[in-house]
Amino acid sequence: MIRNPPPWPNDCKCAVSITFDMDADSLIHLEHPSDSYRRVSTISMLRYGPEIAIERILKTYERLGLQQTFFIPGWCVRQYPDVVRRIVSDGHEIAHHGYLHENPIGLEPAAQADIIDRGIDAIVDIAGVRPQGYRAPLYNFSDHTFDLLVERGFKYDASLMGDDIPYLLSSNQHELVELPSHWGCDDWPPFAHVPDLNYEMPVRAPSSGLQGFFEEFDAAYQWGGLFVPVWHPFVTGRLGRWSQVDRWLADIVKREDVWITTMANIAEYIRLLHRQGKYEPRIDTLPYYSGPVAG
Ligand SMILES: [Zn+2]
Repeated sequence: MIRNPPPWPNDCKCAVSITFDMDADSLIHLEHPSDSYRRVSTISMLRYGPEIAIERILKTYERLGLQQTFFIPGWCVRQYPDVVRRIVSDGHEIAHHGYLHENPIGLEPAAQADIIDRGIDAIVDIAGVRPQGYRAPLYNFSDHTFDLLVERGFKYDASLMGDDIPYLLSSNQHELVELPSHWGCDDWPPFAHVPDLNYEMPVRAPSSGLQGFFEEFDAAYQWGGLFVPVWHPFVTGRLGRWSQVDRWLADIVKREDVWITTMANIAEYIRLLHRQGKYEPRIDTLPYYSGPVAG
């Protein structure tokens, strides 16, 4: 099913990195810049992430001895510094996710560069580490993103959907590890219902909504893939959903043949195998197109 799965360490059958994008209330301020402060209920729902869910998630990770990755917009890093410091002090990775969750598509390179730089500065100031990984807000990796990430020394990207396993993005003699995911591993479609953001989905029961993720994991486990759920603390960190994830995680930790680690560790591992000639990742050369295809 997978043409060339990586040899995962310690004979593990697959790799898993649970990624939480802690967008918090950045989304509402971007969507409604003039009156977001009046939308108190929506703000409260989004603040559930940093205020309530993160601690619950960290406790699960601590109990199970896991280190995972949190993508956090720079504004959220500055708005919720204690939460960010707690994540870091527990040994987890903080990665880059824009500044106020701006959509990169359509931005001029200088504007996108400014956002990326402000996001890096926030993470360095509050977390004391430089981010190695990036996920574009809304997965919207633009035609400038690769160059901007390479110029700033990023090690990996996590915005694209082009494979089931890590691969390399290549352009102008530079390379970046891509750790892909896809919409079937994102918790907005089954669970998010946010009228103020024009996103209204029929919210599924925790068990039926999570079923899709667990089946994605089962396939990665069977075929040697990479499972990267893209979750949000205010969505999957809610009580009913996280209770089920907590049980599921405890079960896969027990198997001892699943490599559950940070995105940075997976990227570094793939880079090392490649450098040592032990594994040839697929190479995807950018850009796919240099201009409009139609017309
Ligand atoms: Zn996001």
